Amino acid sequence: PYAKEGLTPARLIRDNKISYGALMADGEEREAIMSGKVYHDAECDAELPAVGDWVALDLSPEKEAVIRGRLTRQSCLSRKASGKSTEEQVIATNVDVVAVVTDPGPDLNLRRMERYFALIGRSKAHPVVLVNKADLFDEDDCREAADAIQALNPDADVHITSVVEGTALEALRSYLAPGKSITLIGSSGVGKSSVANQLLGEDYQWTDDVNELTGKGRHTTTARELIVLDDGGILIDNPGIREVHMWTDETTLRDRFADISKLAEQCKFHDCKHGTDKGCAIRAALERGDLDPARFEGFLKLDEEIATLLANRKKRQ
Ligand code: GDP
Ligand code: ZN
Repeated sequence: PYAKEGLTPARLIRDNKISYGALMADGEEREAIMSGKVYHDAECDAELPAVGDWVALDLSPEKEAVIRGRLTRQSCLSRKASGKSTEEQVIATNVDVVAVVTDPGPDLNLRRMERYFALIGRSKAHPVVLVNKADLFDEDDCREAADAIQALNPDADVHITSVVEGTALEALRSYLAPGKSITLIGSSGVGKSSVANQLLGEDYQWTDDVNELTGKGRHTTTARELIVLDDGGILIDNPGIREVHMWTDETTLRDRFADISKLAEQCKFHDCKHGTDKGCAIRAALERGDLDPARFEGFLKLDEEIATLLANRKKRQ
């Protein structure tokens, strides 16, 4: 419909905050800016274009192309913005499949899985779950985990997979017909990078939030958020998607140390470091023998990680 107006269809593959990277059918990429017009659609009420959007570009300006229109979104992955804001933050649009990667053992947390399903359900993308690392676990344990996940969501496709045995790649490939877009979510260490890198091959390497946390990450992923694979399928990854699991993990881990959090609330000082501060409820509990020192160590480590994570997030914004 845009052709007769001299506009060119393109898909946004990168969000540079002020401008966007737009990929056209001929494979060429142009920097594009908004025309000042505000877009609304009922399905996903967000004003700004986002990675994954199909747009109509006016290529006549010398420098940046101008976005003149946006097609209705087929799906829209969003989350509540971090902090106190209740606003919805669009992470990626027109994603066909969201694959949650988990392992059948220590990582599996059904409450977190429920949250992922809620997020995917809102997005209108198809929910897929990879119960990964099957090579490391008992077959029965894998089946049990898969059944428990399936029971949460009858619409989800639940696969038992292994990256090392190639079944994870196989499962994802089945969703990657030309033009179909997929994204991966899940906690750290479950195998997202490994399977993404199998999909991507040598040229492009997916980094994860753990790397980002320790500052060792190669920030290659920020360079491109939507990658067209050799067989025409599309992998979408962006910082927002990676924050989905940081964000959920943060609360999940806090929940896991609910006893300590409760004690900390009883410390005399709101910013008690539980070291030498007066009136520390945690130290008192340790002295009474009511709190396992190893558990407290674990909590401290986590607390520090979360602080680093929040500081990094602030830096990025
Ligand atoms: P991510 O944080 O979700 O991106 O997880 P990674 O892809 O970095 O994987 C974490 C670790 O688990 C790495 O050492 C991988 O080699 C390993 N790993 C990932 N998938 C599998 C699997 O299916 N089987 C086994 N045995 N190891 C795996
Ligand atoms: Zn204290």
